[in-house]
Amino acid sequence: MSNESVDRDGDIVLVAAFKRRLGIYRSHPVLLASHRHLDLQAQIGEAYDVKAVEDGLRAKFKYYVGEGNDEADWAFKLAAKGKAAYSIGFIPHAYEDLKPSATNKGARRRFTDIELVEISQVCVPSNRDALVACYEEAEEPDRELADIALKMFEAEEKGAIPYSVHGDTAKAPEDAEWDAGTEVAKADVAQLKKMCAWFDSTAPDNKTSYKLPHHRADGNTVVWRAVRAAMGALLGARGGADIPTSDKAGVHAHLAKHYKQFAKEVPPLKSYSEQELEALFIEKPAPDVTENYIRIRVRDPGDFREDSFRTVWISRAQGINSVQGKRKSPPQGHEGAMVVQSFLFMKDG
Ligand SMILES: [Zn+2]
Repeated sequence: MSNESVDRDGDIVLVAAFKRRLGIYRSHPVLLASHRHLDLQAQIGEAYDVKAVEDGLRAKFKYYVGEGNDEADWAFKLAAKGKAAYSIGFIPHAYEDLKPSATNKGARRRFTDIELVEISQVCVPSNRDALVACYEEAEEPDRELADIALKMFEAEEKGAIPYSVHGDTAKAPEDAEWDAGTEVAKADVAQLKKMCAWFDSTAPDNKTSYKLPHHRADGNTVVWRAVRAAMGALLGARGGADIPTSDKAGVHAHLAKHYKQFAKEVPPLKSYSEQELEALFIEKPAPDVTENYIRIRVRDPGDFREDSFRTVWISRAQGINSVQGKRKSPPQGHEGAMVVQSFLFMKDG
């Protein structure tokens, strides 16, 4: 039901990627309808004989037919007619970025270590080869509808909002200012879905459920500074973003597309040291030259607690002064530490 071909999201799942963690699924082998993992009625059966074989993943299914769940009965009827398609739900633990080419049919990611969490019977699967008659035989308008349904489904069911929901929006000039607070205040939840890269799908009507905004509320243009800040938060900069590990690959793939829109190198999804994060994501503005000193900003003053700023001499003899303070979200183990926000190089006389 899943093999090493390219699915609709441009992903390849290597057979070997399943092997390490397949035991976890075998201990709880659920067959769901349409990946609806929060809905008890959606468990329509269970899998057995689950194996990673040479060309993919193989499983047999026992449907819970005639046990009082209409959805299970209907799913079995579709399967008996040969009109069932299957798709896997998994947590990616590792993947490699690929350069899309003719030989890999435009794939963008290759998953190398995944944890299978569920198998779903679906109308339109992500894996093209799992697609059966219901889609193959459909006329063009139905296929278009099925594609739209798939995109909506992805957006509804997962926390990561796919790039396709935002579409290829216009770019703001690369040096455009970004004020997340102002943009989010202007938007309602429908707009936020077109502005943010992640939302809490258990509370979609809540404005605070939407995170990592990077498009403007008016006109939906994408803003480079915001894209970089969102990627930074995803990878752990400035205290990081509080989103589940299983959604990170999806958010990363979305933001990576915007990086390419701005012709920037995409930082891979991995863990970074604090120094690496600062180098990648914290903007160093040009020195601010005044009559008395040259100020070099090393951290954004907005990241600091307002009441914590102090002027601290580094070397009075050499005329090096600094502004220091406490960060709003210090990294673990550095709580309460005073750190430099900017250096002031005093001019002579
Ligand atoms: Zn976007």
